[in-house]
Amino acid sequence: MTNPLSAGAEIISVKEHERIVIRNALVLTMDCDNLDEVESTSAVVLGAQKECDVVIENGIVKAIAPNAAANQTGARVIQGRGCVVMPGLIDAHTHPVFAGSRATETVLKAQGLSYEEVTARGGGIVVSMRATRAASTAELRASYIARARQALARGVVAWEAKTGYGLNVEQELRLLECLYEAHKEEKVANFLPAMAPTVLGPHAASPEQHGLDNYMQALIDALPQFSSLAKKYAELDRVKPISVDVFLERNYFTREQADRWLSAALQHGMDVHLHADEFSRSGGCEVAIALSQKMEQTHARARNRGRVLSVDHLQYATDSDLLKLQTLGVMPVVLPLTSFFSNIAYVEGRKLRSAGVRAAIASDFNPGSAPMNSLWFAAFLALVKGGFAMSEVLTGVTRHAARAMGVEASHGVLRVGLPAQMIMFEGNCPEDFFATPLGDHLKTVII
Ligand SMILES: [Zn+2]
Repeated sequence: MTNPLSAGAEIISVKEHERIVIRNALVLTMDCDNLDEVESTSAVVLGAQKECDVVIENGIVKAIAPNAAANQTGARVIQGRGCVVMPGLIDAHTHPVFAGSRATETVLKAQGLSYEEVTARGGGIVVSMRATRAASTAELRASYIARARQALARGVVAWEAKTGYGLNVEQELRLLECLYEAHKEEKVANFLPAMAPTVLGPHAASPEQHGLDNYMQALIDALPQFSSLAKKYAELDRVKPISVDVFLERNYFTREQADRWLSAALQHGMDVHLHADEFSRSGGCEVAIALSQKMEQTHARARNRGRVLSVDHLQYATDSDLLKLQTLGVMPVVLPLTSFFSNIAYVEGRKLRSAGVRAAIASDFNPGSAPMNSLWFAAFLALVKGGFAMSEVLTGVTRHAARAMGVEASHGVLRVGLPAQMIMFEGNCPEDFFATPLGDHLKTVII
């Protein structure tokens, strides 16, 4: 079936028993173990195959090889000549459940105010919290669906969706319900990216709770409620169980509070992420290292226990911390749009490379510090401003992003036997991904 609403790229949601073949495209599978040879052999890193066919059957990739589509009579044929096919993009860090606009802050920041100064003047997360609380659940659900459709039309086949504008237990649960409702109805969900919901209750202070510590305790006490919702989520197709996150930063949550929240969530079997070391060296990476080590030591990384999946932002993270995290299986996530909109430093690809660290690249789409639903542009910025190599960017928005979201078993690479989730854009070489900064040359999205 084809989505009649999409204006730009054609969105194909593969039906059961449907056969689709793409013929003669340049295919980038991203399925390569040899990630260390980054720059010189990017064709190897990207798993590039010229004049290649892709066969999809029952929503599964059946073949990736030259001439694989030769005997596929009765299949829907997509001509891939002059096009590049690669895994669908994965946005591992977004805040898409909100109401209201914070464009005033964009104007203030353009005049030279920092994010923290804007917050001190009454802007920031609390503005989105007020608008979000004032919106009805139906409104929030509808605006979320519109944003998710937009992301899919821009090539994002899976995204992580954080709450965090409710700022008390009841409101945070309401935002999770919104996500659940949006992905529950098959007709709607078939044209949304796959989704990984994340509770970001500890995003800022709660107006109802006196002090961050009390709010944190209320959230920890509510973990059974969050995790029982997680069971409901488990029934949904293309939706991952609920994870948790925390904004560990000066003037926000402390190391100790973050550690309590994340430890408790891990004990409940939930995966965890951290907003870490964005405005200062606030200790987020150190918390993640300590938690991961503890999980390893207690052999608690077995079934039914959560994993520390990612540390995100990282402007002030040290190379040695990131390297330790990589060894522990925790994926660094860099967010170039936030640097672009908040006029703060970009995390430097060159620096990560020399330290031997790989990273995911995500949008951080949110109403304040990154009011742009475009992972494609985040990738573009990582290349032109962050100094990431082309292959690092392309793996950063696919296979590394899948790791950061904990969906690497089914997403992020093109491989026979995996669900068909891919994009096709006009071009003749991998570099052509960057032919337009917003991905205007994206032609087809297949989920
Ligand atoms: Zn964020």
